[in-house]
Amino acid sequence: MSRAFATVINQVRAQGLHGRVADYIPELAKADPDEFAIAATSVSGHTYQAGDSASRFTIQSISKAFTYALALQACGIDTVLRHVGVEPSGEAFNAISFDDRHRPANPLINAGAVVTTSLIPAATGDERFERIRAGLSEFAGRQLEADETVAASESATGDRNRALAMLARSHGMLGSTVDDAVEPYFRQCALLVDCSDLAVMGATLANHGENPITGQQVVSPTIAQQVLSLMSSCGMYDRSGQWLFEVGMPAKSGVGGGIVAVAPGEYGIGVYSPPLDEAGNSSRGVVALRTLAQEFGLHLFNHPDRPTSPIAGMVNDHSADTITLHLRGTIDFIAAEQVAYAAAEALHEAGRSMLLLDLADVTAITTVAGRLISDLCEDAGTARAWRVIVRDPARIMTS
Ligand code: GLU
Repeated sequence: MSRAFATVINQVRAQGLHGRVADYIPELAKADPDEFAIAATSVSGHTYQAGDSASRFTIQSISKAFTYALALQACGIDTVLRHVGVEPSGEAFNAISFDDRHRPANPLINAGAVVTTSLIPAATGDERFERIRAGLSEFAGRQLEADETVAASESATGDRNRALAMLARSHGMLGSTVDDAVEPYFRQCALLVDCSDLAVMGATLANHGENPITGQQVVSPTIAQQVLSLMSSCGMYDRSGQWLFEVGMPAKSGVGGGIVAVAPGEYGIGVYSPPLDEAGNSSRGVVALRTLAQEFGLHLFNHPDRPTSPIAGMVNDHSADTITLHLRGTIDFIAAEQVAYAAAEALHEAGRSMLLLDLADVTAITTVAGRLISDLCEDAGTARAWRVIVRDPARIMTS
């Protein structure tokens, strides 16, 4: 993987892409525009990286996805949904975007992010920031610290975010005072990460909310799924639709130049390159992830060719009046369907009355496939004159 990342870095560098380092927060303008890094962490906890992977940068908007996860965990989905929606806004990150129920459109634009931060239970802004810092550190598997100079620089110039918070408060959507929402928000955006921190944070979402390095269950599998859904529809500012269309991975970018992307069930990817395109996404980061998604087939709706048949072998035993099917690998709906039809045909052709399904070499059965196989057993007894016996030494059907 590291070699593939180094190749992508070289290829993308050679394209001489243009972009501007964010400067509306004055401290961000100091970032080195040449820095470029890619890292990935698998759900088994291995990390692969290339480029300037030791460089640290502020997490900025990427924090929004993870703070949303913490808010869901602390307050529950119903409370959070009363305050902030889940619709892509199609508008810029700092737009005045409220729906007909006065909620910000989603938690990944600033209006929704400030509201989400305000929902984290705490008596003061400092306590709120500390809870967020601790929670994001659990996602990263190490203690994150804020760059207080960047936070102060944003606070000094952050009137638009204050205005969004005031509007949200006037609509009854803010969970705290304006200051106790925006100050922790500025500091959460200023948390310092490197590319592999982003990769681990993404891998925690990829791994059903369990950090694959520390083994800690940071949020529930349901919350991880909810956050990934939002990242798919709203994570890349007002290019989210184009991103889903072209790249097809849940992702979240920040104006610091970072992007976190997730291959669910497999790995998290962190990319860092400070120059931004006109939507505010890292120019090189977007192209690097698009290239990786194409090369590795990571688009959510790209389904690989089906593996070889789930039937490893068939034995027709005349003396026992039995057909045995040895199954292998992962049995999903289509594989179970293949088994059911192959079994019916074989029993019919051979005139046998007993089917033995041997699951000794099966590694997993999806829920729907398990249902289909159970139905097959039941139907066999009633509608047809066969008996089905399942040999399941590892109890894969019941696990
Ligand atoms: N702290 C930044 C802001 O609210 C985050 C923006 C971003 O990364 O999109 O303006």
